[in-house]
Amino acid sequence: MTDSLLSAPLRPALALYRDFVRGDPAAVAEVRGLFAADAACWLCAAPAGNDFGLYVTEDPVAPTTTAMIAPLCARCMSLPTLQRWNRIRKMVIATFPSVNPRNIRMIPMAALRRLPCPNG
Ligand SMILES: [Zn+2]
Repeated sequence: MTDSLLSAPLRPALALYRDFVRGDPAAVAEVRGLFAADAACWLCAAPAGNDFGLYVTEDPVAPTTTAMIAPLCARCMSLPTLQRWNRIRKMVIATFPSVNPRNIRMIPMAALRRLPCPNG
């Protein structure tokens, strides 16, 4: 299994996330290229597979500049949003023990839609 949590500049990562969720073919191809074929789901460590979903949010250590990007398997993606977020939150707390849990922010799709879109 390959470690599957990536760091990237915040704005481009959020734009990529938004386009990936919209199903933009270029964004989907770019995201597929980010992770190794044997990447693990960040939440449950099962193989993320080819058709993985994505979790992107602010890196709690550098929330204004850096994003965390992780693949989520189909099973974890199928969880109800709040349940998935709750698991993600626990994982972030476990990964970054020095971070105040109050500073962990989930980014809802509505906020992504408001991002300026360079390609229209
Ligand atoms: Zn999973």
